[in-house]
Amino acid sequence: MIIDFSKLSTIAIGSKLDVKIVNEDNYNNELIIGRASNSLVCGGNIGVLDDKYNFIEIKNGYLRVGAKTSNRALYNFTKKNNIAGFEFLSKLPGSIGGSIKMNAGMKSYEISNNLVLINHKSKNEFKFGYRYSHIDEPIFYADFEIKDGFNSELVEEFKNMRKNQPKLLSLGSSFKNPVGNYAGAMIEKVGLKGIKFGDVGFSEVHANFLVNYGNGNCENVIKAINEAKKRVFEEFGIELQEEIKIIL
Ligand SMILES: Cc1cc2nc3c(=O)[nH]c(=O)nc-3n(C[C@H](O)[C@H](O)[C@H](O)COP(=O)(O)OP(=O)(O)OC[C@H]3O[C@@H](n4cnc5c(N)ncnc54)[C@H](O)[C@@H]3O)c2cc1C
Repeated sequence: MIIDFSKLSTIAIGSKLDVKIVNEDNYNNELIIGRASNSLVCGGNIGVLDDKYNFIEIKNGYLRVGAKTSNRALYNFTKKNNIAGFEFLSKLPGSIGGSIKMNAGMKSYEISNNLVLINHKSKNEFKFGYRYSHIDEPIFYADFEIKDGFNSELVEEFKNMRKNQPKLLSLGSSFKNPVGNYAGAMIEKVGLKGIKFGDVGFSEVHANFLVNYGNGNCENVIKAINEAKKRVFEEFGIELQEEIKIIL
């Protein structure tokens, strides 16, 4: 199937690629992409999950969720069913598979917190940290613990956290925050806030967000990323690590 990643991705940049529809029987080392809300897909051997992995059900006392399910759908389900621990998904674009792989979250609320099983394997078989997991297999479904008490106040808190973030097309934070530092502040200090590379630039609202002003392309993003890494290293001796995934 042909997917134009400039149409799928939240930054509206990417290549048109022939991708495989993947299930548990035909997977053959393709790189699985969900909603490309954290990924710049410029090439590669790409797979997307079959639609049968888009489901939410309560099974054996756990919340079983297909990895193709959108974060929004799971958020809506947990709100409707008064389930706690998924409030942060209200403000997170993407799919459950991508979110688990990235250990996505806000503040101390991370998707791995309530996770019990991935493809029937215990989550303890995998390592999770700040915006990463060591899962090197496709995620088809996951089981989560069910705790009562959806918290609307948290939803409000997460909404407020978005106030200093750009509204333009982006992939969220470009770099992880180095320990004890803020990537955005460092990018600002090296003079890149508001600076454009072609039609992509470090946002004037929050310098850690690369935004597409309309006609950005993969080369623009890569140039911007490399320039920020170079300048921050020269100034602070710190190697910034991308949070976004660049797939060539
Ligand atoms: C405006 C904006 C704000 C954001 N804010 C936040 C935030 O506050 N916190 C946060 O954590 N993230 C944030 N993000 C990033 C993004 O929302 C999350 O990383 C999201 O959960 C990624 O889901 P996805 O399906 O789009 O993943 P993709 O971008 O499609 O993939 C991300 C990674 O996961 C892998 N992957 C995807 N699906 C699977 C699968 N089924 N099996 C195995 N690997 C898979 C991909 O290969 C890739 O390595 C933000 C993004 C945007 C655009």
